[in-house]
Amino acid sequence: MADEKILLRVEDARVWFRGKKRSAGTVKAVDGVTLEIYKGETFGVVGESGCGKSTLGRLLVGLVDPVSGNVQLEGRNVNGLRGAAARQVRREVQIVFQDPSASLNPRRTVKQILEEPFLVHRLGDAAFREGRIRELLQLVGLDEYHLSRYPHELSGGQKQRVGIARALALEPKLIVCDEAVSALDVSVQAQVLNLLQSLKEKLGLTYFFISHNLSVVYQVSDRVAVMYLGKIVELAPYDQIYERPLHPYTEALLSAIPRAAGEHAERVHLEGEIPSPTDPPGGCRFHTRCPKACARCAQEEPPFREIEKDHFVACHLCDNPSADPKEKTEPSESR
Ligand code: SF4
Repeated sequence: MADEKILLRVEDARVWFRGKKRSAGTVKAVDGVTLEIYKGETFGVVGESGCGKSTLGRLLVGLVDPVSGNVQLEGRNVNGLRGAAARQVRREVQIVFQDPSASLNPRRTVKQILEEPFLVHRLGDAAFREGRIRELLQLVGLDEYHLSRYPHELSGGQKQRVGIARALALEPKLIVCDEAVSALDVSVQAQVLNLLQSLKEKLGLTYFFISHNLSVVYQVSDRVAVMYLGKIVELAPYDQIYERPLHPYTEALLSAIPRAAGEHAERVHLEGEIPSPTDPPGGCRFHTRCPKACARCAQEEPPFREIEKDHFVACHLCDNPSADPKEKTEPSESR
């Protein structure tokens, strides 16, 4: 894809942390991720808790730095920036967090919360801020009387609308939605997803949408990346992921989604817990849980490559792109 269509590019990024305990070792939360986010798309990321998807989101916003690799926003390297350059990038990439109760300051009114980004970035005078705050309220479907409310006086959905309004304040190009609807009731989830969709169309936004729930990601995304233990294992347009998943982990995630009447997908139960990101298994990281693993899977890491147009997979079963990978799913005797 031509460069002008790419809003953000992540190149072989690694985000490693020292574990909390001295003996815990290094947590390889993101471990060699490369991706491109196109202008105007919703790029969904799905995976179990601990797979590194939230850390990847924080990397895009600049809340964590990579130990290697880089993030480029419209061709500008955004890692390690300081001062005005860092503030400019922060304006362009914003985040909406999972838990609106925890992400809003309980001692501030909605007005103070929405005014803060303008004060931090020293934008406009009081009249400008007042006008923008009212515009933001309207955009997210809140009323003026909410301005004097504290977060504990709002419902979960209203709090998340305030979180979205705060993210919109500086007119960002990209918004990272980190499990942005996971803490909400199902009916409220639908309202907030609709709001995000209408804001995307109205304001020309791009989303990086993170969720553990593949059915939510499927509803909103143009393309979907599946993450496992710090790596992307499959990436494709949403309809290809849903109709023709090629990675056994994606198949397992999809098999847990309730289907429409008449559709049938056999439930794949994954055994065991996701291994520790301080000591990921060698070879394919999924081999300790993969129902289709063979001896080679424990020895050799499968490359992440394009198997069919716009469909990338890291699995030895897809070794021969000219063959139908779906027909090559017999596990080896050697397992
Ligand atoms: Fe499973 Fe092997 Fe493919 Fe990994 S490379 S997903 S272990 S079949």
